[in-house]
Amino acid sequence: MAIAAPVTVGSRPFDPQNELSDNVRTCFFIDGTWQEPTGEERFELISPVTEELMLSVPAGAPEDIEKAVAAARRAFDQGPWPRLSPVERAAYLRRIADEIDRRAEAFQRVWIGQVGAPQWFVGALSGTAAGQFRYYADLAETYPFEEERTPHVGRLKVLREPVGVAALIIPWNAPLILLTQKMSAALAAGCTVVAKPSPETPLDAQILAECVDAAGLPPGTVNIVPAGREVGNILVSDTRIDKVSFTGSTAAGRHIATVCADRLARVALELGGKSASILCEDADIGAWLQSLAPFTMPFSGQICFSQTRVLVPRSRHDEFIDAYVAGVESLKLGDPWDAATQIGPVSMARQRDRVLDYIDIGRGEGARLVTGGGRPSGFNRGYFIAPTVFDQVDNSMRIAREEIFGPVVSVISYGSDEEAVAIANDSDFGLSGSVYSTDVGRAEAIARRIRTGHISVNGFNLDAVAPFGGYKKSGLGRESGPEGLAGFLEIKSMFLPA
Ligand code: NAD
Repeated sequence: MAIAAPVTVGSRPFDPQNELSDNVRTCFFIDGTWQEPTGEERFELISPVTEELMLSVPAGAPEDIEKAVAAARRAFDQGPWPRLSPVERAAYLRRIADEIDRRAEAFQRVWIGQVGAPQWFVGALSGTAAGQFRYYADLAETYPFEEERTPHVGRLKVLREPVGVAALIIPWNAPLILLTQKMSAALAAGCTVVAKPSPETPLDAQILAECVDAAGLPPGTVNIVPAGREVGNILVSDTRIDKVSFTGSTAAGRHIATVCADRLARVALELGGKSASILCEDADIGAWLQSLAPFTMPFSGQICFSQTRVLVPRSRHDEFIDAYVAGVESLKLGDPWDAATQIGPVSMARQRDRVLDYIDIGRGEGARLVTGGGRPSGFNRGYFIAPTVFDQVDNSMRIAREEIFGPVVSVISYGSDEEAVAIANDSDFGLSGSVYSTDVGRAEAIARRIRTGHISVNGFNLDAVAPFGGYKKSGLGRESGPEGLAGFLEIKSMFLPA
């Protein structure tokens, strides 16, 4: 993942009223058409930079979800999508990718506008959404959807068939990429989908609906209804939904898993994290800072894979803390519309309050606050929080155990590699991680022992071919790679006479 990619978003203020089409602002894409909302409720989109209202948009109501589920069910049971060949579906996926590319600037602008993501971050990930569609288009063309095996009697065909109608539920932090990761795999598998974006960030999915519309998918294949959690709960409880693919908090994931368990619906969960970055005794601190320092708090720490527990050897503690704090304090905090900004605000008032609460908790637990610790001086409006580092954190403290989802990092000291592994694994979560050593073999040996779904040695990487997901309370199932496609498939053994 590159850190400083060129961006083309421009510095003019976000003006959703005039930048977005009427359909995006006022309708829902259901059954291949833009439909008027059935309810009266609205979501207010508040700028995290100015705290002012940017736009009010319709909130999905139970009747909208009912229409979307009915359309997706019809499209799966009677429509052409599941019966198209993988090559035919791949052609549609590539068309969607092209439409996403055409709207690249709009997607970057709504991401920055809605949640204050800094331009370097948005720029580095620009291209991911279209890339996911192209990746699954390529994979669909070569994937063994059908395989012959030799049983004791007769012939056997093993068929990998679409699981059915999939509900795709996503959070607010990376709303386009998290949705396209699910949608591209689901469509490649032959599923039809109902997507429910988060109420705080409906616009990315709405523009994606324009892409799907322009790509000409059969009606009902993709339906998108931004809605809150009560309406989301109706969606996951609906017996016409065969599979729920959820990304969000561990608390909501647990609830959704329970609902799905009750009716034995398939469920995949991408949940929270408390990932550890381990610096070995022989680590090159400069290289660590260069490659990872932004990723201990990328996008103000509001990313599931943030490396929020930094494990340093006692023997090099002082050297490390001095360099890290200098690096964090040099990060430019400011307006995300300024291309030089490295850290913007947190995304909403409730995030700000949550993070400030955790900073108080850390102080109360006796951790040593070495930088940050609240609203930075000179910022009179906006949900800004100074990048915050706690030192002398014990792994039993709440700030080391609970996901804060903000620009707060805990530094924990250790004595031996053995102890570092034990601390990294002493967590309810297991989503990401990293190990730094000048001896790659030593770092790899440690990485192998960490119970986590994603880990990098001397760097940080994500890739469409790499399965992503969590051990323990970080989730269930995997997205990306062939594993992401398999999550939207059922397996049928079909015996035939010899
Ligand atoms: P959240 O769980 O509050 O909400 C996520 C989505 O689920 C939203 O669309 C919400 O409306 C919906 N939802 C909540 N309860 C629901 C219910 N009972 N039924 C149906 N839908 C429901 O999470 P959030 O605050 O939006 O996002 C932050 C969380 O997401 C963090 O914990 C973060 O770690 C996690 N996350 C995980 C990954 C990953 O890949 N593992 C990626 C990004 C974010």
